[in-house]
Amino acid sequence: MADEKVFDLFVIGGGINGAGIARDASGRGLSVALAEAGDLGGATSSASTKLFHGGLRYLEFFEFGLVKSALKEREVLLKAMPHISWPMRFVLPYAPDMRFDSDTPTSRLLRMTMPWIEKGRRPAWLVRLGLFLYDNLGGREILPGTKTLDLTKAAEGKPLKDRFKMAYEYSDAWVEDSRLVMLNARDAEARGAKILTRCAVKEATRDGDTWRIETEKGTYRAKALVNAGGPWVADILTGVMRQNSQHNIRLVRGSHIVTKRLYDHEKCYFFQGTDGRIIFAIPYEQDFTLIGTTDAEHTDADTKPAITDEERDYLCTFASEYFEQPVTADDVVWTYSGVRPLYDDGASSATAATRDYVLALDDNGPPVLSVFGGKITTYRKLAEQALAKMGLGEAWTAGVALPGGDFKVAEVGSLTSKLEADYPFLDEKWAGRLIRAYGTEAWDVLGEAKSADDIGPDFGATLTGAELKWMMAREYAVAGDDALWRRTKLGLRLDPDQRVAVDTWMKEQTA
Ligand SMILES: Cc1cc2nc3c(=O)[nH]c(=O)nc-3n(C[C@H](O)[C@H](O)[C@H](O)COP(=O)(O)OP(=O)(O)OC[C@H]3O[C@@H](n4cnc5c(N)ncnc54)[C@H](O)[C@@H]3O)c2cc1C
Repeated sequence: MADEKVFDLFVIGGGINGAGIARDASGRGLSVALAEAGDLGGATSSASTKLFHGGLRYLEFFEFGLVKSALKEREVLLKAMPHISWPMRFVLPYAPDMRFDSDTPTSRLLRMTMPWIEKGRRPAWLVRLGLFLYDNLGGREILPGTKTLDLTKAAEGKPLKDRFKMAYEYSDAWVEDSRLVMLNARDAEARGAKILTRCAVKEATRDGDTWRIETEKGTYRAKALVNAGGPWVADILTGVMRQNSQHNIRLVRGSHIVTKRLYDHEKCYFFQGTDGRIIFAIPYEQDFTLIGTTDAEHTDADTKPAITDEERDYLCTFASEYFEQPVTADDVVWTYSGVRPLYDDGASSATAATRDYVLALDDNGPPVLSVFGGKITTYRKLAEQALAKMGLGEAWTAGVALPGGDFKVAEVGSLTSKLEADYPFLDEKWAGRLIRAYGTEAWDVLGEAKSADDIGPDFGATLTGAELKWMMAREYAVAGDDALWRRTKLGLRLDPDQRVAVDTWMKEQTA
């Protein structure tokens, strides 16, 4: 037996939903353990488009409830984590001759009520109406509203083809998804939770009035269980728990490509495709552009998602419909893919499948709650609802900062300057990166250092031994990939030898 104690709650899965539930439950005074088979956020929750968004596109599917609650949530989240999330402006270019092969509830309604509108057209007034709803459904304090841009004059028109003369510009927000997961786990631990990483749950069975949970690190007992296995939620129900499931999950792969920076301003583009889908082009890690995503059926959660040539070419062609300078496979410097664990509502296409979530409670004996679906944006609300459904304590997380996030959204610049002043060997870019990653904890990462030599070794791209030590001691990082692709994205800047050196050094520290 790894732990004689009977936990109030045991969470299977350390993606955003499991980590969010563990944090919320710990803050309610419950004793909590969480087991994650790999690295925290190692599956879907580090492979998202990284937006706190209402989902403008879902309005066309009449998902008003989902959009409204996600829109409202954006600012609650921004305020609780001003280091790892920030407001973003999105430019939606429009040309009157655009045609879309869309079969959404909105396009069907248009065809019925306004048959004179040519099939496949998404009229400008409809886009404006959607953005009006987007601006007003959820309320806004920090995020500015929609405006119209004259692309013949504005800098945002420069990288685009001449055909796009006007655009709408609206707000959403960015989040460092994998750091979000880790910070929730850390906050749970700070409130008393036990966080087990690289620890798969092999079996969970009801034993009297508790669950007996066999993991790779021993056996645990708990009064209640949460199955937050993301793409594996159904496999955990049937395989680990040997239960029948009435609910099904639909696995939909989404891939992104990363290119060298394609344009000079800080705004994102929202591109509508002739196939009725949309993609984003987003400034990424200062020197890059992120383009995504795709919707491809994925049959088996155990098959590691990876971009196909077809998906890569689709994204290049899609973006090239808009950018003056075509995007080609040669421009791609990195890709990543994840599998959306969507609740299977019987929709015909992957694009149309609902993005809302379902919480299934089985209380025939000690309870288990399974999470089907759920977006990064809704993780905090999902956690609140999950615990309310299990009748466990009072909600408390709205407005409570995550570690390092105890400052105001507008203070990033002044914090960066203060860090630079306190550690004169940093330049602005380096200080800015540290504030964006660690917020007010950046001072703890650097400690008493007086010069760069005090925080060595230097692994390149401003990654130092002190930072890696912090990630290993405080952020559950064990291997090079944890540090280079999830706690940071410095893998983009280091060459293969440097990446190996990071991994080797980390392993030496624990040997
Ligand atoms: C391409 C793409 C783009 C997206 N973009 C956005 C976006 O911009 N904004 C947004 O809000 N949402 C977005 N999403 C949705 C969002 O990323 C996911 O819904 C969310 O990350 C799911 O989190 P999760 O915790 O349920 O699953 P996961 O993150 O997959 O976590 C489940 C975890 O369970 C673990 N696990 C499985 N079996 C076991 C076991 N037996 N024992 C222990 N652990 C186990 C796995 O290792 C895994 O880490 C996107 C998704 C994709 C794929």
